[in-house]
Amino acid sequence: MLHPFLNKMGIESFGMTDTKYRVVEATGGMIQCLPKKEEEIIRCRFCIHSKQFRQDGRWVPSPARAFCLATRITTKVDFSHVSAVCCDDMAGKGFSSIMNIIS
Ligand code: SF4
Repeated sequence: MLHPFLNKMGIESFGMTDTKYRVVEATGGMIQCLPKKEEEIIRCRFCIHSKQFRQDGRWVPSPARAFCLATRITTKVDFSHVSAVCCDDMAGKGFSSIMNIIS
């Protein structure tokens, strides 16, 4: 179920269902990760919740997925051209480092 604060943030749905992903828009290189917490969007590349980035209007896989044995994506993302992140954190947990799962 979608966490109540995500509804308040005006989250855009993305993917097959309305509750699997959220699209978080970037402003000046920052994204509103949680209602009271901003993050630099470049930090999302190290977050297990990042699925894709919108780069020059096109969705590209997150480098974080390179560490997923099922996906093994090694995309290079140019963060100076990224305008949003597709994030699967629907529970309001926020940044979670990929290092926690690969160490
Ligand atoms: S949860 Fe992770 S991927 Fe989602 S917005 Fe926050 S830092 Fe970025």
